[in-house]
Amino acid sequence: MQGKSRWAIGIDLGGTKTLVARVDGGGKIGRMLRIPTNAAQGAAAVKKGLIEAIQDILKGSGRLPAGIGVGVAGQVDPESGAVKFSPNLGWHDEPFREDLKKALGLPVMVTNDVRAATWGEWLYGAGKGCNDLLCLFVGTGIGGGVVSGGKVLTGCSNTAGELGHITIDLHGPPCHCGNRGCMEALAGGWAIARQAREKVKSDPKAGAAILKRADGRADKITAKIVAASAKAGDPLALALLDQVALALSAGSASLVNAFNPCRVIFGGGVVEGYPRLIKKIARGLKGRALPPALEPLRVVRSKLGSQAGVVGSAALVMHFSERIFGEDRKKRG
Ligand SMILES: [Zn+2]
Repeated sequence: MQGKSRWAIGIDLGGTKTLVARVDGGGKIGRMLRIPTNAAQGAAAVKKGLIEAIQDILKGSGRLPAGIGVGVAGQVDPESGAVKFSPNLGWHDEPFREDLKKALGLPVMVTNDVRAATWGEWLYGAGKGCNDLLCLFVGTGIGGGVVSGGKVLTGCSNTAGELGHITIDLHGPPCHCGNRGCMEALAGGWAIARQAREKVKSDPKAGAAILKRADGRADKITAKIVAASAKAGDPLALALLDQVALALSAGSASLVNAFNPCRVIFGGGVVEGYPRLIKKIARGLKGRALPPALEPLRVVRSKLGSQAGVVGSAALVMHFSERIFGEDRKKRG
């Protein structure tokens, strides 16, 4: 690993807010800025705000950083660093890396935000020291990442790790991806909110506690409200989250059988809001995954939380930039 005098700027570019941080070679965050993304004002405004924040961090930093790593909520072209598609930002084929490079004169690497978070957890978080792991981030949607044999899998067209879209229920509810019965459509935050709204409407008595937390309005029910109700012991919320744990156990069992990881790391807003899910998932895995795959397995909680993205994107620049996205690819040709 790199010396601690080395550093990079890590950026987590989300649809509404962006984190820009100084990260050292040991994965420690120094100064961190939280800025609004301003996606509605267009790509030029987003980049301008980002460049100003980077220059702010660079000011007075003395030694130049190894580079700038950016995790973006969207699909990224690994060759050009362009953002192919980001529904959250409203971007199509946006020349992102080139524009930042031109403006700042530093190496820039761009990757998907969940992939960046996987790098962070692997190198500095709950996956430290382990070369085979899965990350599952259960937020509004479910994103993931796979580290296999000491490499973060990228796939043939850079989309590997879409773990939320494995099918759990052939005849299940529709998913945003066009399939039905995906793990995300059963256990993602948006799906939890939808299920809670339906239950509350069909059985107002059982749903009274959840509805109260949503100011009496079913349309205001969120996964966060369901988690808070479960923590307070509400039977309906607990039953809903038991089903969520079941879907996540079934999905994880398939992934554990496919990749034989030593660790499965769970993070994201839903898990942070109701950490007991992890124990339920671990229990659910028993009897579903193959015993030899279960033997070395640990199911753990994310260590870096919402900072995994900035730490991981900075780590990407410091440790792996050319190897993963440049020379290796060309050599394999
Ligand atoms: Zn899906």
